[in-house]
Amino acid sequence: MKIFDAHCDALLKLWENPQRNFTNANEIDANYERLVAGNVKVQCFALFAEPDLTIEEKYQSILKQVELFQSEILSKHNKMKHIKDWRDVARLKEDEIGAVLTLEGVDCIGDNLTKLNIFYQLGVKSIGLTWNQANLCADGVGEPRGAGLTLLGKQFVQNNNANLVWTDVAHLSEKGFWEVIELADYPVATHCNARALCDHVRNLTDEQLLAIVNKGGWIGLVWHPIFLTGTEHATISDCIRHIDHLCSLGVKNHICFGSDFDGISVYVNGLENASKYPYFINELLKHFSEDDVKLFAYGNFETYIQRLT
Ligand SMILES: [Zn+2]
Repeated sequence: MKIFDAHCDALLKLWENPQRNFTNANEIDANYERLVAGNVKVQCFALFAEPDLTIEEKYQSILKQVELFQSEILSKHNKMKHIKDWRDVARLKEDEIGAVLTLEGVDCIGDNLTKLNIFYQLGVKSIGLTWNQANLCADGVGEPRGAGLTLLGKQFVQNNNANLVWTDVAHLSEKGFWEVIELADYPVATHCNARALCDHVRNLTDEQLLAIVNKGGWIGLVWHPIFLTGTEHATISDCIRHIDHLCSLGVKNHICFGSDFDGISVYVNGLENASKYPYFINELLKHFSEDDVKLFAYGNFETYIQRLT
């Protein structure tokens, strides 16, 4: 079954060590061979800069990751196709995999709107304002101040709207979340779970989940044990509990996957990397109808992007 995965940090792993081979490096959870084995059809690749760098260093780091995306992921794998326009997804051939660039936190941009436009031109399709800390646009979930969006942050969301770019609320403060819901035409949560089942600050309350859905967005459920159970241990049953919870809210048409592979160091038993998706899907098929599993795995994403083309 085809998979859409809304979040991985493989580019960060390449940036940390460009000697790593995207084709099959064991350290890369979402490497090429694993994406193929997992039937992943469209994979989002996050651009993310370490929080302890300066704004300029972050920008350099992100540019390097864009370069690695080109040189290591696209150029060396002729079946990997850069999705710069959502219509490119429908054009993917049977054996091709779509690669989407996303930006996790706009720290690297500072207040430079030209740089923001450059990211749009590079084909970045989803932008989250923050990681866990504050920046010039907003506070992240880890910022005790808990502020919402600055004027600049609001400008970024408006520019996302104008460019049909998703505004990702994962990692954003709760106040920021509600302001994005107000302003964004395309709010999504690329890697978050249900707070009702796992009371972690990175997860979303039922009210928040419904607010995203009411704006037409979707939630990429994340396969990080900490966000599934609050511990370092989780099984596929825990993933199913979170999916079930969203279904009970009546939002099964807005459930997607956002693994966070390569951004996590502990894993769900049986879902340790992208190659395990077929096993995962088989487990889901024991609990949900085939039609519903197809929606979660790919169909909901496919429906969503049809609205953007
Ligand atoms: Zn993240």
